[in-house]
Amino acid sequence: MSKIVRLRCVGSGDAFGSGGRLNSCFHLAAAGEQLLLDCGCSSLIGLQRCGLNPAELDSVVISHLHGDHFGGIPFLLLEAKYVSRRRRPLTLIGPADLQQQVEAALEALYPGAIGNELGFPLIYRQLDPAQTLVAGGFEIGCCQVRHGNSKNVYGLRIRVAGKSLGYTGDTEWTDNLIALADGCELLIAECFAYDRSLPSHLDYQTLVQRRADLNCRRLVLTHLGAEMLQQRNALQFTVLNDGDLIEL
Ligand SMILES: [Zn+2]
Repeated sequence: MSKIVRLRCVGSGDAFGSGGRLNSCFHLAAAGEQLLLDCGCSSLIGLQRCGLNPAELDSVVISHLHGDHFGGIPFLLLEAKYVSRRRRPLTLIGPADLQQQVEAALEALYPGAIGNELGFPLIYRQLDPAQTLVAGGFEIGCCQVRHGNSKNVYGLRIRVAGKSLGYTGDTEWTDNLIALADGCELLIAECFAYDRSLPSHLDYQTLVQRRADLNCRRLVLTHLGAEMLQQRNALQFTVLNDGDLIEL
């Protein structure tokens, strides 16, 4: 079995479509399995652009229940039922209320379209900072981060094929990010702002100042807002673009 972990950045954008970038979505392929980290509204489009087949996904992990991070799930389910005619199970992993929010979004966007039968088992599992969850070959840990009012907003840590990868999700600075990054090959950090420290989001200057606290081999940026995009050629970290591939 290959030990290579392939990370494809399907969507590197923010909630506002800044720079024409797609909503948050990262595709991980390792050990013969495929997993999405976040699935924002445009994720199905992004997967198709990257030549990734949604029918081959085993699970989807959602960091928090904002539309640019989970709003693509209704489209994924619709495609699975009517185009891929999926039969094998799909596992959706995320904060408490994921199932309720997915069902509400599906009903709002495509009333009655799924009917009673999806045609395949859809399994919901809940993230819990106190436990590592195992989904196939992936070990999924999470920590609480600070983004808006909800307590159920997570940074994610994935271990597969002997490699660890961290993803901040959306958050302002919290010391929980130190443990999240510790020992990771790669940390995907949201970086919405440049030098304004905002509630709810990270900014570039904070990440520069905190880089020494983050014990990860590489740090790459995603979720760039408009002011960050203007600075993107003069940064000390790599900026992910839609379609980028990183092998770990
Ligand atoms: Zn958010």
